Amino acid sequence: MASGQDSQHFVEIRNATKQFETPEGKTFKALDDISLAVRGNEFITLLGPSGCGKTTLLRTISGFEELDEGQVYLDGQPMEGIPPHKRPVNTVFQSYALFPHLSVGDNVGYSLDVAGVGRKERNDRVAEALSLVSLEGMERRKPRQLSGGQQQRVALARAIISRPKLLLLDEPLSALDRGLRQAMQLELKNIQHELGISFIFVTHDQEEALTMSDRIVVMDAGQVQQIGTPTEVYDKPRTSFVARFIGESNLFEGRVAARNGDTAELETETAGPLKFKLPGALAAGTPATLLIRPEHLVIETPEAGADAEGYGRIEAKLQQTVFLGTDFQLICALPNGAPLKAIVRDSARDAAARLSAGDDVSFRYWLGSPHVIPEGSAA
Ligand code: ATP
Repeated sequence: MASGQDSQHFVEIRNATKQFETPEGKTFKALDDISLAVRGNEFITLLGPSGCGKTTLLRTISGFEELDEGQVYLDGQPMEGIPPHKRPVNTVFQSYALFPHLSVGDNVGYSLDVAGVGRKERNDRVAEALSLVSLEGMERRKPRQLSGGQQQRVALARAIISRPKLLLLDEPLSALDRGLRQAMQLELKNIQHELGISFIFVTHDQEEALTMSDRIVVMDAGQVQQIGTPTEVYDKPRTSFVARFIGESNLFEGRVAARNGDTAELETETAGPLKFKLPGALAAGTPATLLIRPEHLVIETPEAGADAEGYGRIEAKLQQTVFLGTDFQLICALPNGAPLKAIVRDSARDAAARLSAGDDVSFRYWLGSPHVIPEGSAA
C-alpha cells in the first residue's frame, strides 16, 4: 500500500474532474469534483440519468480516459500514466464484443493465449471460468450459436479469467429481456460474492441498482448526489433529485411551521399543513421538502378511526385507479391540482374498489414515515 491510502478501499477516486469540448467550441464538465471509495469486495453501482457521467467515470478508472484534475488509486497505487492493460481491472460492455469466428473456449481463453499461458493451465482456467457463469461444456460453440444471455456470460467469463481485482460493468444487462435480466442480476451478485472482488456496475435502471448493490452512487450532471446502501438512498434521500430518481415519490415543498415536541408541521402550498416527526433540530421558518412514498399513504376509512393519534392526513381527489397486479396505484390530484400517488396493498383492496374517479379521498400516514429534505440540498 502506498502511504496515505486507506487499505480497506481497493478503489479511491479523489476530486475527479473531466472536461470535454463541445462541437460548438464550449467546454463542459462530464465529471465535476467526484470523490468515491470502493471496498475490496464491494458491489457498487453508479446510477444516474443518461449523460450524467457514469461511463466517463468508468473509463477514467480503466485508463481509457485521462482526468483533467484529481486522482484514481487502485490498490493504493496512483494510476496516473498507467495504461489500461497494466491496471488490475477488466471491463464488461453492453455489446458483448465477442470474436464471432472464435469458439466460446477461444474467446474466453484469448487473453491467456496472448500471455502465453501453458495449454493445461489455460484449459483448466477456461473450464473454471465457464463453470462460474454456468456454461460448462459450451467451449466449442460459436457465439452465434448462443442466446443473448449466454453471450453475455461468455463476455463475463472472458473478463474474469485474467483474475482482475476489479471488474467494471457498463450496462451489461441492458440488451437482455426482462426475465433474463432479473435472473442475471441475482447471478452476477452471486458471482461477485464467489470471486470476492470489487464490482463497479453502471446502470440507469434504479430497480437493478436496488436489487444488486451493496452501495449505490447516485449521480447527476457529473456530480455525486448521494452514496449509500439501497435502503439509505430510498428511505433517506439527501436531495429531491435522489428522491425523484429512486422509486415513486410525493414531494411537498414548504416551511416548517409550528413545532410540538418531536412533531412539526410543514406549511405547504399543495397540501396545506402536513404533520411529521422531526428527527433532529429544524427551526420554525426553515424551508424544507417532505417526501411521502406512495406506499405510506393509507385510505382512511371510518373503521380506521379518522382522528387516530400519531397520523397525518392528506385530502385529494381520485383521478384514476391503475391495477398493478398485487397492488393498486391511485393517481389523485391535490386541491391545487398537483399530483399525488398512493399505492394500495392487497389488504385495502375493498376500500380501493369502492372508489371511483372524481371521489374525494382522505389518506392518512404514520407521522414517522415522511422523510425531510432540508432545502438547499433539494435539487
Ligand atoms: P448513458 O447512460 O447515456 O451512457 P452516461 O452517464 O454514461 O450516459 P457519459 O457517457 O459518461 O454519460 O457522458 C457524459 C457526458 O459527456 C455526455 O454529455 C456525453 O455526451 C459527454 N461525452 C462523453 N464522452 C465524450 C467525448 N469523448 N467527447 C465529448 N463529449 C463526451
